[in-house]
Amino acid sequence: MNLNNKAHDGLYINGQWLAGFEQLTVINPSTETVLATVTGGGETAVDAAVEAARQAFTHWSQTSGAERGALLRKIAHGVQARRERLIELQSLNNGKPLFEAGIDVDDVFATFNYYAELAEALDAKQDSAVPLPSDDFAARLRREPCGVVGLIVPWNFPMVTTAWKLAPALAAGCCVVLKPSEVTPLPELELAAIIAECGLPAGVFNLVCGTGLAVGAPLSAHPGIAKISFTGSNAVGVQVMQRAAETVKGVSLELGGKSSLLVLADADVDLAVELASGGGYFNAGQMCSATSRVLVADEVADAFLEKLVARAEAIRVADPFDPEVEMGALVNQAQYQRVLGHIQRGQGVGARLVCGGERPADLPKGYFLRPTVFVDVPLDSALWREEIFGPVLCVRSFATEAEAIALANDSQFGLVASVVSSDPQAADRVANALQAGLVWINAPQVIFPQTSWGGYKQSSIGRELGPWGLQAFQETKHVVRAL
Ligand code: NAD
Repeated sequence: MNLNNKAHDGLYINGQWLAGFEQLTVINPSTETVLATVTGGGETAVDAAVEAARQAFTHWSQTSGAERGALLRKIAHGVQARRERLIELQSLNNGKPLFEAGIDVDDVFATFNYYAELAEALDAKQDSAVPLPSDDFAARLRREPCGVVGLIVPWNFPMVTTAWKLAPALAAGCCVVLKPSEVTPLPELELAAIIAECGLPAGVFNLVCGTGLAVGAPLSAHPGIAKISFTGSNAVGVQVMQRAAETVKGVSLELGGKSSLLVLADADVDLAVELASGGGYFNAGQMCSATSRVLVADEVADAFLEKLVARAEAIRVADPFDPEVEMGALVNQAQYQRVLGHIQRGQGVGARLVCGGERPADLPKGYFLRPTVFVDVPLDSALWREEIFGPVLCVRSFATEAEAIALANDSQFGLVASVVSSDPQAADRVANALQAGLVWINAPQVIFPQTSWGGYKQSSIGRELGPWGLQAFQETKHVVRAL
């Protein structure tokens, strides 16, 4: 694959590709070799991008939803047309298997199409009458784009997290400055190249590659930005919020998780094993929604653990381009060391490693790790309480439904949860009691653009996807007239 095209200049500002000042080295995590060099910008580039977006906002905010919808559909079709290249770029840059990268690209396609529909529907309900308890006044509600928005995204699902912000922002009529992760800029640079060909007015969409401190920090503090939508770690989310506070700008935050999968006593154990494996090892466990705590009813705990360990040991960890691959590489050296550190410290505090925890013997290079299962994990340990962001499952048994719910809810996070049960009433009862923004029952982690994404407690502020994702980029205005 030729990675040397103009899309890798690093900055796309006011409809122009530009070079930044800082060389960012992009690594292939499966081989530990250099994939590409991308230039990153800093405060000057952020200023230029925000200014271009502010100029473009005057016109773009006045376009009809139908016009914006047509452009969003064009982007969706561009994504579809470049599907294979986008899949390969994601696998090369992130280390995820081709089939997983394919799911990501299809999600991006669906998201742009979904928000094209919502943009088109805006025309009919731009102004809606508000019933009042008075004949002397009439009121109407308008929803207007909130302005120029800054989008900051992580490396684990680079294109998907971008699409979940970019599509609704454009649909609402906002202009955008996007900052991809410096670890995985290649998929977004390709997406930017697609957008550049779709005929969006110059300045509506701008991209500035760079590090968090060089680009993310000035973007978060910029007085010309109306809102920051951020996905990433809690530590950085707090900094973004603090910087945004200086100019009282809105923030949407999608942060970490420590989610649970609950296997009730009447569960189909084989299904539970498949769902635990998917919830723990998809994307090599580098998911904010990883169900890394598995809570299993005493009645089925032994059978479940035996089958889970057999499944984990059978997972084929390999190069993402291997046709038989089930799990790819972790994203980089830092993440690899972080996960290995958690595994080591977990053993140090008495957690029992049942399988995995080390590099596969047949893969001497690349950030590969065998799917890992722990039991007897102390409830006050980092392994149990902190986000590991790697292929590590902690399994614990429970005696009662109430105990399982209490264990699952005992976390600073509350992003997602899964329940496995053959009793629909019990599954619903448990789902309703869990503090999580999305609960799957007997289902893998399917995500539809129509349902919301985001969580309770320290996992999120706001919700993405669905109409909530659009409203996040809209201001609410009421106009009240005396009759
Ligand atoms: P990160 O917080 O290190 O970086 C995220 C983005 O913020 C990157 O683009 C980075 O360059 C930028 N950044 C870094 N420092 C910054 C600063 N001081 N100011 C502004 N921006 C800055 O996160 P990561 O390691 O890229 O991603 C992993 C994290 O993302 C995990 O904690 C995971 O849970 C979270 N995540 C959450 C969701 C969700 O939907 N809740 C989805 C994906 C990832």
